Amino acid sequence: MVLGNYKSAVAARSTDKGILSASQDGGIVTQLFAFALDEGIIDGAIVAGPGAEPWMPEPVVATTKAELLAARGTRYTISPNMALIKEATRSYGLDKVGIVGTPCQMQGLRKAQLYPIGMRDVPDKIALAIGIFCMENFPYQGLETMVEDHCTVKMESAVKMDIGKGKFSVYTERGGLSQIPLKLTHKYEQPGCHVCLDYVSNLADVSTGSVGTPDGWSTVFVRTKVGDGVWARAVDAGCFETKPIEEVKPGLELVTKLATDKITKNQKTVEARASFGVKADGSGKALRNPYL
Ligand SMILES: Cc1cc2nc3c(=O)[nH]c(=O)nc-3n(C[C@H](O)[C@H](O)[C@H](O)COP(=O)(O)OP(=O)(O)OC[C@H]3O[C@@H](n4cnc5c(N)ncnc54)[C@H](O)[C@@H]3O)c2cc1C
Ligand code: SF4
Repeated sequence: MVLGNYKSAVAARSTDKGILSASQDGGIVTQLFAFALDEGIIDGAIVAGPGAEPWMPEPVVATTKAELLAARGTRYTISPNMALIKEATRSYGLDKVGIVGTPCQMQGLRKAQLYPIGMRDVPDKIALAIGIFCMENFPYQGLETMVEDHCTVKMESAVKMDIGKGKFSVYTERGGLSQIPLKLTHKYEQPGCHVCLDYVSNLADVSTGSVGTPDGWSTVFVRTKVGDGVWARAVDAGCFETKPIEEVKPGLELVTKLATDKITKNQKTVEARASFGVKADGSGKALRNPYL
């Protein structure tokens, strides 16, 4: 269950070289939204577009392929994509909304659909939710410190950042690569991530990440009826090259291991909050547990 419910899992990458040129992994997010936009399955998608500072994402409602392309790549810092969900159905006038986000953002989305507090019209207008895998995230200042102080790369000189194989890697415009072990990045993690119990976006229609497949490919879980319908149409239309996940290394075994590690570690943090403080009478005082 650490990988959530899914109908199928595959290794995949976009067949569009233009998309792959700057996508993080197999370009699954950008390709699937571009296809859904073309086919009228969505009329726009909330993505993490370029922001005011280098590597600072700014949520945008993309209604063209060019805007989707501009949002490619992972920004390892918070992009509050859910903040636009209501506005997408208001001033943007969307009836079929796409959204990409981390597991916590997929949870926020499903909660808004089931318990729409201040979210009139939103629940029925969600057409395609693509979730990305996420081990942890970083505040912008923390990311800047990791890149500029630890990796000694100027934020504006970085062309790609990546977390994998125990390292945080920064690729530069001049072809350089600077890496630090992940143990140096732990103190910059967003503290709220330490109570997060979802690694592979269990609540998305389709979820995707890099872990499990070779460089340039993505691991894809097709989870819901909606996700299955869109994915099958996109594959039929030739948008993706796919391989059975069982045929690629390291495959689902590594995804399962990392998901288990994350959930086990964070479950302990959740439990420790129950006896975090001490009351005047000496008994334990709990910090709030949002799961209770
Ligand atoms: C904070 C974070 C941690 C991650 N950790 C892991 C991990 O541990 N293991 C793993 O396998 N994969 C992880 N990923 C996912 C991975 O880095 C890729 O985003 C994913 O594989 C999609 O690649 P793609 O080539 O399909 O997407 P692309 O076609 O390159 O598109 C990427 C999409 O992600 C969106 N995006 C970028 N940054 C953010 C953000 N900060 N918040 C919300 N949306 C964003 C962009 O809007 C864009 O639409 C993480 C991603 C993030 C943002
Ligand atoms: S670790 Fe969890 S809470 Fe933190 S950004 Fe990722 S999904 Fe959200």
